[in-house]
Amino acid sequence: MSASVIADNLLRPFQLERSALRGRVVRLGGLIDRVLTRHDYPDPVGRLLGELLVLAATLAGALKFNGTFSLQIRSDGPVSLMLADCTNDGAMRGYARYDDARVAEAPGSAAGALLGNGRLAFTVDQNQSGQAYQGIVELSGATLTDCMQTYFRQSEQLRTGLKIAVDRIEADDGARWRAGGIMIQRLADEAGDAWREEQLDDDWLRTMLLLGTATDAELVDPHLPSERLLLHLFHEEGVRVFTPLALRFGCRCSRERVETMLRRFPEHELDDMKDDDGDVVVTCQFCNVDFRFDDAQLARLHARLPN
Ligand SMILES: [Zn+2]
Repeated sequence: MSASVIADNLLRPFQLERSALRGRVVRLGGLIDRVLTRHDYPDPVGRLLGELLVLAATLAGALKFNGTFSLQIRSDGPVSLMLADCTNDGAMRGYARYDDARVAEAPGSAAGALLGNGRLAFTVDQNQSGQAYQGIVELSGATLTDCMQTYFRQSEQLRTGLKIAVDRIEADDGARWRAGGIMIQRLADEAGDAWREEQLDDDWLRTMLLLGTATDAELVDPHLPSERLLLHLFHEEGVRVFTPLALRFGCRCSRERVETMLRRFPEHELDDMKDDDGDVVVTCQFCNVDFRFDDAQLARLHARLPN
């Protein structure tokens, strides 16, 4: 079966036949390890960003769009900024800005301790039509997962069950980051009869109990493919899996984009940005790649300026 060849770095939609509930499972291996080790994040920051990446993939999987779905957190806590995004064709990237000393002093590694007061915004950037605003959630709860659950509860459009785990797993070549998540959603009920309503509620409760039995170890287990994980959790519910979307690390930065950005600065401001070698170096915060501009290259940028 070609659909089961991809075992990792994937987003796989599924349906539970008994209840007709739909969900998505996300498993991240090499992709998340690449994002989190590129910046060598402290452990609690890595876990938090990992959770945001899984959230980005699971939420993106629920939407029809042609472009980029992104989650952005701004807070007054030790982690002041976090970004994670996922394109419709599965390219993902993420970044966290944090204060080392404040992270070390934070009372615990829970989201509440690391993020303080803040907001989680989600946006869909459509390739064709420009940006379409989606929503903002006040940060609350011990984890980002809690925060999203609260959002869905308040929005009353969808009932959402969500379970996410992020961990470092010992592999042959050292500890590697892995993450997994399952999201199950149920549309707001149309006006139905009481009997049907009761049945839907029973289905939902039973499914949430089963989802609740998923352990963190199972969610990040590199030897447990997503289909087997689903079967293990929901075998009496009739699991039907659909073709997965392969996820990969992908940054959209380019020298051209950096040039466009630098052209907006007047020459004297570019001079202020120069490093000890006299170059302006712009580092992409997502992939940590440096774009270096020497005097001749900077002069060319300005030569191309209109006027
Ligand atoms: Zn980049």
